[in-house]
Amino acid sequence: MTAWIDFKKLRANLDFEQVLKHYGVEVKRKGDQHQGFCPLPNHQGKRNSPSFSANLKRGIFQCFGCGAKGNVLEFAALMEKVDLKDGTAMRNVALELQRRFCPELDETPKGTPKPEEQPKAKPKQELPVVVNAPLDFELKGLNTTHPYLPGRGLTPETIAHFGLGFCSRGMLKDRVAIPLHDQDGKLIGYAGRAVDDAAIGEDNPRYRFPGARERDGKAFEFRKTLFVYNGFRLKAPVDDLIVVEGFTSVWWLHQSGLQHAVATMGADCSGKQAELIISLVKPTGRVWIVPDGDSAGERFGHSLLIQVSPHRFMRWVKLGDAKQPTDLSAEQLQTCLKT
Ligand SMILES: [Zn+2]
Repeated sequence: MTAWIDFKKLRANLDFEQVLKHYGVEVKRKGDQHQGFCPLPNHQGKRNSPSFSANLKRGIFQCFGCGAKGNVLEFAALMEKVDLKDGTAMRNVALELQRRFCPELDETPKGTPKPEEQPKAKPKQELPVVVNAPLDFELKGLNTTHPYLPGRGLTPETIAHFGLGFCSRGMLKDRVAIPLHDQDGKLIGYAGRAVDDAAIGEDNPRYRFPGARERDGKAFEFRKTLFVYNGFRLKAPVDDLIVVEGFTSVWWLHQSGLQHAVATMGADCSGKQAELIISLVKPTGRVWIVPDGDSAGERFGHSLLIQVSPHRFMRWVKLGDAKQPTDLSAEQLQTCLKT
């Protein structure tokens, strides 16, 4: 079995400036920004205008000349003339970048690290860490008829199926509580969806996820990257699996008669999530990616494609600009996702 590569981690650790220099780009730094001629081999049009800019801190780039944009991995792939939709080739580009620039991320066991390689800074308290522990309580008294829910077009059946309800107190006050289960079906936390879109801001995110907490001498952590939403409800392995970014898409697909849907709960598919997605689908089955029609959706599609396509047949369903699965009628979805 080939090793997994954590694309998100790699992207976070790669120094874009180093990568640019590696490809012969003369980096002109202004703060976190670099601006210069477009180095991409497929760039068409003028080479003598500084159409290419990169945010070195965020690891993203775009070119106003040729319209190319993306993250540091996609930049390297374009420089290598690799098709961004070719999962295996993308993976090889990533592995090469990791080998060259971030060898410390290679998690292939190599025996005990030498003393000088061990991390020096120790956490102030070394509490045993428990990740995604099952909850020993359930939220009671959720309002399942709050106007937000029918306002999203959800039927009482769908609301009950996913255990949704408006919460009026605690951490999830003024949010729709969304029960989160691991792949074994254990309740491991609740996400909260703000019901007032107008009030969403930096301190009031659209979605709130469980935080870290300490109890009984243990550190409890929650990581959404270790499971996929709705995965436990499937009678896996299935023939066809639809993968979307968000909760609302899963609810809407369910209500539209497409029950084999899971969500990564964000635009980045982690290595563990990719592994789960593969295990949920028969080797002869298909994975349908249905990204939102925006740049995060593109990223989402690519992160899935790169990791899953070497193992399962995949179909990428393009919904069109700024469209989300929830914008389509049941009939339209059934047509797009005809198996
Ligand atoms: Zn260009």
